[in-house]
Amino acid sequence: MTITPRPEPVVTHPQRLVFPADDITKQDIANYYQAVMPRFLPGIASRPTSVYRFPEGTTKPGFFQKHPMRGLQHVEHITLHEESGAMADYICPSDAGAVIELVQYNAIEFHPWASRATSLEEPDYLVFDLDPGDGVSWPEATDAARWIRGRLVEASLQSFVRTTGGKGLHVVVPLHTSCRWDDARQFTNAFAHGLADEQPASFTAKASKAERKGRIFIDYLRNTRGATSVASWSLRARPGAPVAMPMRWQDLGRCASGDAFDIRSARRRLSRLRSEPWEGFATMRQSLEKPLRIYAPSKA
Ligand code: ATP
Ligand code: MN
Repeated sequence: MTITPRPEPVVTHPQRLVFPADDITKQDIANYYQAVMPRFLPGIASRPTSVYRFPEGTTKPGFFQKHPMRGLQHVEHITLHEESGAMADYICPSDAGAVIELVQYNAIEFHPWASRATSLEEPDYLVFDLDPGDGVSWPEATDAARWIRGRLVEASLQSFVRTTGGKGLHVVVPLHTSCRWDDARQFTNAFAHGLADEQPASFTAKASKAERKGRIFIDYLRNTRGATSVASWSLRARPGAPVAMPMRWQDLGRCASGDAFDIRSARRRLSRLRSEPWEGFATMRQSLEKPLRIYAPSKA
């Protein structure tokens, strides 16, 4: 038997400006993902992943897409049952060729599920999405993330932090693979409301705009089946082509804002990195059993 290797995905219109104000082309985006691939790919590989696509560049509206488009040759699909009960095909990239093919289809951002195709009902991390409201400074946001880290330690959970490339931060908690979506939702709900009750001047767990003014919204709703959050090292389709960047907790203070890293500085950082900023993330197996007892005693 002869195996014909699949041709590499082609990037057409390589010189097309995707971020005109920043002089960034489609080829630049493909080159970026190729360069960061060893760090980026593990965060999305074999997970249902929504892509944020901009066929007319970032000066025109884009759209989120979770179902595979016609014509894909490198991107794997997964058929899963949606919350409604219907079966549907989802984009599920598993290798570098898939990522570049999605870039060819004008994807800029990558947003994976917190569970893998092989274990869809068991999230393997939690995400607390910290959204600073109007009037909250960046140092206040990073202090809040560190405070939450401490609270998680008290609940016997280690956490990791990334800038989102936008206004905020994600605090991410790796889990044992036997946790269920119900556990994730129940714990994050109780934990976020607990923090907001404890420090009502700084935090809210409610999404309304009025609630958020001067406070940080702890969005725990990422931790439900079907929800996504942006992948580490993903570009953002926002001015300046920022990047969602995993940080070491001790380096967070060196970041001047949530969008401190962009398509160019992220690559410089990559070349200087000697070890993984989220060292241990992939192998850490944490259980929600004790945290759930602490935060939701009536239901434990
Ligand atoms: P920021 O720090 O600016 O808040 P973010 O990535 O946390 O950046 P949010 O607006 O808080 O952005 O959204 C949180 C997550 O919700 C996103 O990362 C994305 O995965 C998901 N999301 C947001 N809007 C959509 C959408 N229209 N369709 C699908 N997923 C979405
Ligand atoms: Mn956010």
